[in-house]
Amino acid sequence: MSATPVVVAAGVVPEIAVSALPDDERVWVPQAKDVWFRPLLLNTVTGGWCNLLRVRKSGVLHRHRHPMIVVGYVIKGRWRYLEHDWVAEEGSLVYEPPGEIHTLVVPEDCAEMITFFNIAGAMIYLDDTGRQTGYEDVFTKIDMCRAYYAGAGLGADYVDQFIR
Ligand code: FE
Repeated sequence: MSATPVVVAAGVVPEIAVSALPDDERVWVPQAKDVWFRPLLLNTVTGGWCNLLRVRKSGVLHRHRHPMIVVGYVIKGRWRYLEHDWVAEEGSLVYEPPGEIHTLVVPEDCAEMITFFNIAGAMIYLDDTGRQTGYEDVFTKIDMCRAYYAGAGLGADYVDQFIR
């Protein structure tokens, strides 16, 4: 059976279907000690990104504020925010509204958590007093990926397939 002909307008970038969790460890970009992210979509048009976050340590990761919406889905393990009563378990959907400030914590009994996040806008990192200590957006993410993949043997342009 032949494939249905597809008419694509000029300028439309190709769709992708990739393995989100390949065996190749090199896809994981180090974010901090025992914390990595795996880029999946880096959207320079709307300003946001999709990635997997992988954590292999317990305790507080960081406090941060979201200027825009975040949606997450827990693939493995569990985590919570210090500011909330709920625990995001494997299979949980998480919605984080604009303006939310929270502190991610991985419990002692969780050796590894992996969560898919669709993050719009930016991550604004804060200290305990609310002072800004860091900032991430799709462009800083792309820079991190390029620098890491260049040294990891995949080549800096490995990240290009995820950029839109
Ligand atoms: Fe968050």
